[in-house]
Amino acid sequence: MDHLTPQQRHKNMAAIRNKNTKPEMIVRKGLWKRGFRYRLNHKRLPGHPDLVLRKYRTCIFINGCFWHGHLVESNTMESSVCCKIPTTNHDFWVAKIRRNKDRDKEEQRKLAEMGWHCITVWECELKSSKREDTLESIAFTLNHIYLQDHSLNRPYEQQEEETGMLMAAEELY
Ligand SMILES: [Zn+2]
Repeated sequence: MDHLTPQQRHKNMAAIRNKNTKPEMIVRKGLWKRGFRYRLNHKRLPGHPDLVLRKYRTCIFINGCFWHGHLVESNTMESSVCCKIPTTNHDFWVAKIRRNKDRDKEEQRKLAEMGWHCITVWECELKSSKREDTLESIAFTLNHIYLQDHSLNRPYEQQEEETGMLMAAEELY
């Protein structure tokens, strides 16, 4: 990186930053459009969740497949379709990704203890072909969580109606 001019470096950094924030923006826009409201990067919660939906007692983490070792088993740490662990400095990367995975698990355990639900959204689930399905399923999960937390044990069809009503109500405020 040292051979870059400051302008080049700035351009590079900006590109990296934009690339990193894109998946988060997809989730934010998708949920907002569906009537969900959230807070960003909650500093006081373990793991600084990307989105926090207080009404749903839910934290959402939007994870990069490489850094968080998507589909990598903790015991074997073999590369997956989502996370190709480099062969150069292999042990370094294995240790790093394993640490990240352990940390994610630990933070979600703490959040669960505090009564929060956690949803992990993987970068690969936000590819344009899968995006809408993923957002729909997050919305479904959130409504399901809400109904469970308010112990509305109604038949399934009725719950679906309820879900529609909830989303409409959410848009009012
Ligand atoms: Zn993935």
